[in-house]
Amino acid sequence: MIVAKFGGSSLADTQRIINAAKILLEIKGESEVVSVVSAVGDTTDFLIDAVKNAGKIDIEKTVDELYSSHHKILGQIKTTIDEEDEKKLKSFCSSVKQRLVLVNQQGMAKPEDIDYIGGFGEKFSAFFLSCAIEQLGFKSVVLQGDDNLIFTDDNFNNADVFFDRTNDALKNKIAPLLKENIVVFTGFVGTTLDNRTTTLGRGSSDYIASIIGAALDSEEIRIYTDVDGIMTADPRIVKRAKTISKMDFNEMSELATFGARVLHPKTIEPAMKKDICVKVINSFNPSSFTEIFRKNTKGNTTVKAVSSNRDITILNINSTRMLNSFGFMAKAFNIFLEEEVSVDMVSTSEVNISLSINKCVSEEKVQKVVDKLSVFSCTTLEKNKAIICVIGEGLKHRHGVAGKVFSIMGNNKVNVEMISQGASEINIAFVVDNKDEKKAVIALHDELINGSDN
Ligand code: ASP
Ligand code: MG
Repeated sequence: MIVAKFGGSSLADTQRIINAAKILLEIKGESEVVSVVSAVGDTTDFLIDAVKNAGKIDIEKTVDELYSSHHKILGQIKTTIDEEDEKKLKSFCSSVKQRLVLVNQQGMAKPEDIDYIGGFGEKFSAFFLSCAIEQLGFKSVVLQGDDNLIFTDDNFNNADVFFDRTNDALKNKIAPLLKENIVVFTGFVGTTLDNRTTTLGRGSSDYIASIIGAALDSEEIRIYTDVDGIMTADPRIVKRAKTISKMDFNEMSELATFGARVLHPKTIEPAMKKDICVKVINSFNPSSFTEIFRKNTKGNTTVKAVSSNRDITILNINSTRMLNSFGFMAKAFNIFLEEEVSVDMVSTSEVNISLSINKCVSEEKVQKVVDKLSVFSCTTLEKNKAIICVIGEGLKHRHGVAGKVFSIMGNNKVNVEMISQGASEINIAFVVDNKDEKKAVIALHDELINGSDN
């Protein structure tokens, strides 16, 4: 069995949806297939905007807009929209509407409302892709993650999966359908044990594809997207960036965590546990792809990719009490736990801890952490920073790469602030000012990737 996930841009209009259906039929010629879908284009943004502003918008008009844009696509996929289809579209729209009305009465959107409404994008797109498959003469079944399949906790907007229960449900439900059908599965959404819709975080349809692939021991997990696989750098910053043909799970997890927005960072984990190859493919140009496996890169490529992540906040915790004392670190990190703020990068010295905080964390949360830390330390914030990350399995085996990285920065007059070498020894990450981000990435890519012998 092969899992094939299509992102929002690969399903952005009728032509693309039909293109995805054709790819699925081709796969089905050789293997069973489950397709995981994101919402069409930027439907998720539209829905989340609507629910967050339910008090300000014209609900009637917003839902009409949702209905007509989706009705139009369906009309192009199917020669005739029958009563059943019409009913389905209308029932999705009326569920969205009812909830928007409720949110308006409540006076504010709760995280739970955002997930319930935000998750409809995937329900529409799964329905469309399934119609497109049927139009091509093949049977298809739609499954929804919140229909007792992807079980999660109730941490709405970023829920965690209960794997044992989910894996059992997926196997039991999907396996018997595979022979006769192309199964189309909603990305993004899950369900709490008491049947409330959750989402697994923005961009998490990739992760759901990997969860399904691992649960059913698939041969391969294919992520169809609108770029040529994983690139050596962001092509918007580095014009000469190239597709990386092969990389390993560790390299990909570091890369996804530190900037490359092609794959959701959690995607690698389920695939890696079952040793299933993840393939990132351009749906418009399927000959361009990256394969991600367990250890494949003993080769001599030292540096695989340079990534960056801007608008990061750095928190400096300074305390002379740290000197020769114990328990300080535990106390400091416990505050991050209490406030549920996750940290990307850490570097410490005798009297200082520097941490980078992801831009997803709200300013209020960061301020709360600072207030609590200030009780026993001198804590300061630095904004508008960028993390630069140099990644490659080969970094482990070669000497002098770190030296080279920092002399390139020196030669380009880029001031480097916080340095950390990943635990897996395959990345070097450091912080620069936002304004130096592009210069740093271009210089490193030019000298370590383009200029190297690989
Ligand atoms: N549609 C969701 C989002 O925009 C999930 C995804 O695309 O993976 O975040
Ligand atoms: Mg994505």
